[in-house]
Amino acid sequence: MNRELGGYDVVWLEVGQEKCINLPCRKLKNKLLGKKIRGVRNRGKWVVADLDSHELAFNLGMGGELLLHRGGTSLPESHFSFQLSGGQGISLTFYWFGHVHLINKNDIAEHPIGQLGPQPLEEDLTMKRFVSLFAGRRGRLKNFLLNQKNIAGIGNAYIHDILFLARIHPLQDIRLLQDEDLWLLYGAIERVLRSSLEMGGLAFEKDLYGQHGGYGRDFFRVAYRDGSPCPACGNEIKKIKTGRNSSYICNSCQSLKN
Ligand SMILES: [Zn+2]
Repeated sequence: MNRELGGYDVVWLEVGQEKCINLPCRKLKNKLLGKKIRGVRNRGKWVVADLDSHELAFNLGMGGELLLHRGGTSLPESHFSFQLSGGQGISLTFYWFGHVHLINKNDIAEHPIGQLGPQPLEEDLTMKRFVSLFAGRRGRLKNFLLNQKNIAGIGNAYIHDILFLARIHPLQDIRLLQDEDLWLLYGAIERVLRSSLEMGGLAFEKDLYGQHGGYGRDFFRVAYRDGSPCPACGNEIKKIKTGRNSSYICNSCQSLKN
């Protein structure tokens, strides 16, 4: 996305759903029109465009589409769209409700994107730093990993296979994890997220060009496969309740340590 948007000025924008923006519409337009997008990156569930004094951050919430189009203006029924000096435009459509926030860089620490933890697959999240995130922490591993303030960017669709590859139970108390467990976990996170990235993301999500990713059911090891045999030991994969959500595990590969 950096390639498609970076280096261009915002020349036009339309807000189809005022509730999704964090400033009054006129104010947002004043601050955004004519400004150059320096670059775009992912931060957890946010896509963040870097401007000189602000960050423009998008969050698709429960899902949605962020599509690139050439020429024309917005796509019909989009909730937020803008056009750049290169002639390309971006339209966001939320399935339920999403956010478009313009944040002054001086205020970034108070915004959710300023509070996100380090991100897997990025250089600054070395194995050493990863292990240090767990020092003195308590609670259940799955909740810890899904909390974007600890680590940003591990989604629900990936967590089951990550824990399976690391051979750790989702309800494992993190105080009982050894360094060896965390090394395995670090490797499992990299492996799962990298293979999804190489396949263009999740099959039920779309990229900038409206194409579905290739990472779907065929590639899941235990996720959403309750009743099937475990790919490692052949035992039946179970769906279990873990707090407010469910997990898919192999009981014999992922035993709970006490
Ligand atoms: Zn197994």
